[in-house]
Amino acid sequence: MDNHTASIIIDAHSHVQFPAYDNDRETVINQAKAAGVAMVAVGTQVETSEAAVRLAKANPGWVWATVGFHPNHLSEDWHHDKKEQSQSVAEVFNIGILRNLAKDPSVVAIGECGLDYFRIMNNELGIKNRQRDVFLQQAQLAQELQKPLMIHCRPAKGTDDAYEDLLPIIHSSKFTIPKIAHFYVGSLAITKKLVAAGCYFTFGGVITFASEYDEVVRYIPVDRLLAETDCPYVAPLPYRGRRNEPAYILETVKKMAQLRGISFDTLKQSLYSNTRKVFKI
Ligand SMILES: [Zn+2]
Repeated sequence: MDNHTASIIIDAHSHVQFPAYDNDRETVINQAKAAGVAMVAVGTQVETSEAAVRLAKANPGWVWATVGFHPNHLSEDWHHDKKEQSQSVAEVFNIGILRNLAKDPSVVAIGECGLDYFRIMNNELGIKNRQRDVFLQQAQLAQELQKPLMIHCRPAKGTDDAYEDLLPIIHSSKFTIPKIAHFYVGSLAITKKLVAAGCYFTFGGVITFASEYDEVVRYIPVDRLLAETDCPYVAPLPYRGRRNEPAYILETVKKMAQLRGISFDTLKQSLYSNTRKVFKI
């Protein structure tokens, strides 16, 4: 990456390849470039992983790809946010397809993958076990290819249950690759355990309008922090309610710097070196 300097921010988790940008993707990427924002396009199933790779190849030095299988795609009844402008389809998980896709040099991580207990009812043990199995296969692929793991982990409301189940898996000595807890929403107690397990953490626009993560944002060591948009979802203030895009990450980084009591530029430098280190870019 020699065409820009530490003055940029890398959006560690975006979905710029999603249909939400089909009409103006080039404009959105150009707006990000103009704002000094590069991005990782995160795959959620085969089609979106392939699209991420295509987009990364077309935008070297500005877009990188991940390939993975989101736990919600194991359930037939789950639908994407309407901002994605398409309905989710269930898909049979196939590690062979992911392994092939992951060989492309533009692929910098495996995921998003993980455990999502937010939308499932109590004791749906069958679904939890399937999520765990599909996550483990992707963690093994990440270890095999020596790429970091982009983890989607969402507990049931008001609990840390999915993080508690994640912890023994990622704490295993089998997985020495960096682990990124994307869109992090854990309590301070579970955060301490995940920090000890060597996790990296990304925060998105939610920290600009909700205060319940302030303590956790302050607690995590600065060398474990990344920033993300998760666009098209959850735009930060003052864009809340609109379609999110990578350029808006500036608002989230400003808020993060304010919460930690450090300057925007100092935080930006740290995020830049953390992101490059984790993704080897
Ligand atoms: Zn995502």
